[in-house]
Amino acid sequence: MKTCTIVPISIAFLLFCNINLAAGNPEALLQERNAEFKQDIIEVAPNVYTAVGYAVSPTSMIIGESGIIIIDTQIDSSAAQAVLTEFRKITEKPVAGIVLTHGHGDHTGGLHVFAAAGKDVQIWARKNFNQESRKFSNAGLTIQGTRGARQGGFLLPPGSRINNGVAKQYFPERGGEVFAAAGAKPTHYLSEDRQRVRTGGIEIDLVAATGEAYDELYVWYPKERVVFAGDNFYKSWPNLYAIRGTPYRDVLAWINSLSLMINEKPKHLVGGHTRPILGEEQTTITLTNYRDAIRSIFDQTIAGMNRGLTPDELVEIVKLPEKYSQLDYLREYYGNIEWGVRAIFSGYLGWFDGNPSSLFPLSPEEEAKEIVKLAGGTDVLLSKARSSLLKNPQWTAQLCDYLLALGYADDDVRHLKADALELIGGELLTATGRNYYFSVAKQLRESTDSVGPIAQ
Ligand SMILES: [Zn+2]
Repeated sequence: MKTCTIVPISIAFLLFCNINLAAGNPEALLQERNAEFKQDIIEVAPNVYTAVGYAVSPTSMIIGESGIIIIDTQIDSSAAQAVLTEFRKITEKPVAGIVLTHGHGDHTGGLHVFAAAGKDVQIWARKNFNQESRKFSNAGLTIQGTRGARQGGFLLPPGSRINNGVAKQYFPERGGEVFAAAGAKPTHYLSEDRQRVRTGGIEIDLVAATGEAYDELYVWYPKERVVFAGDNFYKSWPNLYAIRGTPYRDVLAWINSLSLMINEKPKHLVGGHTRPILGEEQTTITLTNYRDAIRSIFDQTIAGMNRGLTPDELVEIVKLPEKYSQLDYLREYYGNIEWGVRAIFSGYLGWFDGNPSSLFPLSPEEEAKEIVKLAGGTDVLLSKARSSLLKNPQWTAQLCDYLLALGYADDDVRHLKADALELIGGELLTATGRNYYFSVAKQLRESTDSVGPIAQ
């Protein structure tokens, strides 16, 4: 951990320390990031407003002759109501249309609130709207909910959950249920890849743009040349893989969607999270760097795969070129480059890494038995795990896993693993991972029943 040794030599020394902490300390960087989530109504262009910092994702409003169009609808009723109240101070015109950029709950949970603010409101989405959650529910899969709560830090006390990297700390109402109960859903679906929509005296284009989600679209408002990117852009290294568990996010399609947006020659860019980017030059540079940085990681990964490298080997060599890694909007606040590399590998080649030793590996218990024998017994292993805690907490966690696999789930082992996870999490900038480490550490300290899946 990059902390200062407490030796109060001089004020100058302390100042130097503070500067260092702010520049490189993950916790300080995430705290600084909270400025990005300040509640605000931003005038992006004439008759275009974006509400940021109300909950998890922004909501935008375009004002036309006879009505307004709303883009994305907040995560729950109260956030949607708060935004609508602010928008009503700007215009009383009825909601004529709503566009959902994709089906994730943080963009759709307040739909019914905006739908009730107009008559015969056109609600637009792509044909495959909600594809991801349908896929999970068709399979009967529920574990992504548990993992999602860890990733989101919902189990953590407010102090340890700084933010999620692209949104402030927010505990939503049960948005999905409210959404379903209110019966609000899309009334219009895209029948083509690019479709012009006219309502409320406003003309916009909706463009199919697979990326973070398969049902993603972007909105192009030609009159003021504003692009509303949905989750294909936010200020962070993109979440090419979400550790709550997601099917492969098509990275090539994502790159292509960014090219489509660049080709519109937008003046302003409203992302699916964080504050908008204003001005043509900054918008073009940002979108181009964003696309090219993803392309670089994709190309390096594919090249390594073609050389027969495994995911574990790939993450050692695939790196973001320095010209991109210096850019704040490509920092790993939300997504993580290593996890993206692994996702690209498994997205194309599946789980088998190519090494025959991986085809039928020893079970965790068999491997643990052999390692314990090699180490000279469980006591030696536990003391090794303890002694490497500060130097190499990852190794401590892995050694604890051997003991847990053999059923040594006593307080000593569980608390030691929790210590290790907290040290790793504290060093990690990626807020989703940090939340996950701290959540599992908390569960290890508090629970004896659920050690199994947590330990693995
Ligand atoms: Zn989102």
